[in-house]
Formats: sequence, C-alpha cells, structure tokens
Amino acid sequence: MDAAATPEDVRRVVASVEGLGYKAHPIPGSQRTAIGVTGNRGTVDSGAFENLPGVAEVIPVTAPYKLVSREAKRETTVVSVGGVPVGGQRITLIAGPCAVESEGQALEVARRVRDAGAQLFRGGAYKPRTSPYSFQGLGEEGLAILKRVREETGLPIVTEVLDTETAELVAETADCLQIGARNMQNFSLLRKVGRLRKPVLLKRGMSATLEELLLSAEYLLAEGNYDVILCERGVRTFANHTRNTLDLAAIPYVQRISHLPILVDPSHGTGKRQKVLPMSRAAIAAGADGLLIEVHPHPEEALSDGPQALLPEMFAQLADEVRRLAPVIGRTA
Ligand code: PEP
Ligand code: MN
Repeated sequence: MDAAATPEDVRRVVASVEGLGYKAHPIPGSQRTAIGVTGNRGTVDSGAFENLPGVAEVIPVTAPYKLVSREAKRETTVVSVGGVPVGGQRITLIAGPCAVESEGQALEVARRVRDAGAQLFRGGAYKPRTSPYSFQGLGEEGLAILKRVREETGLPIVTEVLDTETAELVAETADCLQIGARNMQNFSLLRKVGRLRKPVLLKRGMSATLEELLLSAEYLLAEGNYDVILCERGVRTFANHTRNTLDLAAIPYVQRISHLPILVDPSHGTGKRQKVLPMSRAAIAAGADGLLIEVHPHPEEALSDGPQALLPEMFAQLADEVRRLAPVIGRTA
C-alpha cells in the first residue's frame, strides 16, 4: 500500500482479497502496510484490487516463502518485545542463563546483565535435553521465577516453548516465545504459537537450510503472527573444534531475501566460553540485529551448557565492545 493509504483503504483491499476466496495478511510497517495474499493455487488475477485507492503495486512473490519475503514487505520488520525494539537501528542484547535454576541464580544474572546493558532476559523453564536423565528445567516454578525477574529488573522475558501442551502456559509469562533448534520443524507447535500472538524467536535447526528456516517462519506468519525474529545458532558439520559451526553468512543472505530481523547465538554456535566474544564481534560486524548470550555466575555448577556460559563480567566486556563497534557499521547499541 502507499505510505498515504488510510486504514479504510487497507480494509477495502482486505475485503476484496477475501472476496476472491483468498486469505489477506495486512502486515503493518513503520512507513506503509503490506498486504500479503495467500491461499491461491495459481496466479492471482489482481484486477479486483489493483486499482483500489491506496494500492501502490501488486507484486507476485516467486519464492516458496511468501509473507516472510522481502518481495512481500520491503522494509525490515521491527518486533517489539515488551517495548524493546528488535530489528531496528539499535542492536539488541539478550542475555541470561541457559536454564532458570533458582530464583537466586536467575535474579543475580538478570541484575548483572541488565547493569551491563542487556535489554532482554533469556532463560529456559522447559529445556529440550538430549538425555532424558539430564535436568529438564523447573517448569512452572521456573515460569514463576521469570515473572519475578521481570518485576525486579524490568527486563522483558524470552523463554522457550517446548510443546503445544504447555504453549499457552508459557505464553502467559513470556514476552517472547523461543522455538528451539530441535523444534524448528515442529509444524503443529509452529501453528499453535502462530495463533498465540506473542513475539517469537525462531532458532535455526541444526541441519536446516535457510529456505527451511524461512518456511518455518512462514508457518507463524501464515497464522497471523508477524512478530517473528530469526536466530542463527550454528549448524552441525564435520568440524569438531566447536559444538556447532556458526554460519555467519546466513545473516546477509537472510537480510537480502527476508524482512525479518535476525539475531546470532554465539553461545550455542561455538559451545565454548572463550569463543563467544570473538564470534559476537564477527556477528555484529556481519550485520546481525542482536545477540543471544548465555551467562552464569558459576558456570562450573550450571545444570546445562556450563562450558559456553560467560561470567557476568565477560558479558559486560562483550556489551561494551558491541557499543563501541556499533557506530562503525552505522548502528547504535
Ligand atoms: C537454548 O537457547 O538454550 C537452546 C536450547 O538453544 P538451541 O535450541 O539453539 O539448541
Ligand atoms: Mn543452552
């Protein structure tokens, strides 16, 4: 739609698209609204809405993913997570422990990372673990702790949703629902979360192509949830010097073909504390919209992912470096 299109113009186009038996997705932007059309089997005869007031142009999207594509929406999406913008000019730092282990641990990390400059807190209450005998997260008790963390520190909460059964419960607490690498192609979970109308942080599967990542994001948008943030967290390769191989080239690739913001998680991307700072610098230099960083006050006692957790003072250094790096690439932090 034109920048000058009125809400009434948008409504008229939506009604016209629906009149043809298709689904209309008005995706708001800061400058203008894009209206995605899905549900068509072949080419859409746009004659019915092309000349309606407010329509700027009709663009057939050739990519397999539609609503997430830059063809559908030219301007980059900014997702508001509890009032914190993700995807704009400002680089977003999300930090916290892998898992919420106790109120004391979560609050200590939250205060330290907030004071160092993190804008959002992360921490899992439900953890996807390779072994059924490993710590699975505190569940509902963990969610209660996350609420306390938000009350005490003012930091909005990013936390993982593991399955459709607990999705609504987790959404009551979360400001942003994380869908983990192992669940990237859990299509019933994607559909469910797409209907929950909470911002989503969608992590790339450990063996997923970018096309598969974007098609998973498409599931969320197709359900009407346009507040989606992507996250590169490393993929599995033959290389064994790191836990995963952090694919930083994914950033410019995704940014060219999609309007969705993209973060980098160098914690899971390397699995090694000493590699998190250098790969954070690289991710920011490559254009990432932000970082997802695991921090623990006593990593040797962590119940999950201790070897990759930064000490709070290491995170403070990272945040400081990101602030100094940001103006070099025309951003703020
Ligand atoms: C996490 O963020 O703690 C996590 C489990 O990440 P991933 O899904 O990327 O492995
Ligand atoms: Mn983790």
